[in-house]
Amino acid sequence: MIKPLQALSTWNQKLVNSLIHLEHSSLERCVICLGPAPGLCEACRQDLPANHPACRRCALPLISTNTSLCGGCLARTPQQDSSDVPWRYQFPINIMITHYKYNGQRAFGRALAKAWTETTGKKGDSLPQALVPCPIAPERLRERGFNQSAELAHWLGRELKVPVRETLIRRRRGTRVQTGLNRRQRLKNLHGAFEVRAPAPSHIALVDDVVTTGATTEAMAQVLRQHGARRIEVWALARTP
Ligand SMILES: [Zn+2]
Ligand SMILES: [Zn+2]
Repeated sequence: MIKPLQALSTWNQKLVNSLIHLEHSSLERCVICLGPAPGLCEACRQDLPANHPACRRCALPLISTNTSLCGGCLARTPQQDSSDVPWRYQFPINIMITHYKYNGQRAFGRALAKAWTETTGKKGDSLPQALVPCPIAPERLRERGFNQSAELAHWLGRELKVPVRETLIRRRRGTRVQTGLNRRQRLKNLHGAFEVRAPAPSHIALVDDVVTTGATTEAMAQVLRQHGARRIEVWALARTP
């Protein structure tokens, strides 16, 4: 369980000690408590910071369950129809995603992808026809060596038996790093950034690791609609407040 972990430093220490083990048998033990459960044990999964209540369209954390939409989505309907983002970008999700994304610790990403399907309960008829990962800028790909959104999409697709269309949309040109920009600036920065390369299936889910302002998925959804997508969901691990 997460609760007995007293401080981040203790947790990190435990983590570092376990990394070698995780590299070699990533899904045999719980990535948090190292208990004998594949990926994340039930107790640790239950303790993750649930993104509830949240706006059903953009997954923005809400403070009350009196409404299902945030003020932003009420004022202006976004491009996506719904968002499934089960956790908030807080401890320990933020640490897990950072280790996955920047240190290449696949065990955390795989465990969270598996927990994502269990937490959202996605299956059967309501599933989209294709998963479309957020493309990464070529310079980011060179730095990082992998696209975390594409990996997540493949893990989710395998689990749910939904095909992944990794090359359906690509980044047309380099965009400024989005960090530090607000939503409006991000949307402007992303204008014309995406190119759709084939007709889009009518029902798709865009897959990303973290939704920050929603500008990236919104820009993608906009061009995918112009290429035939009718129902667009956003699937991500975590949402920032
Ligand atoms: Zn555990
Ligand atoms: Zn919203």
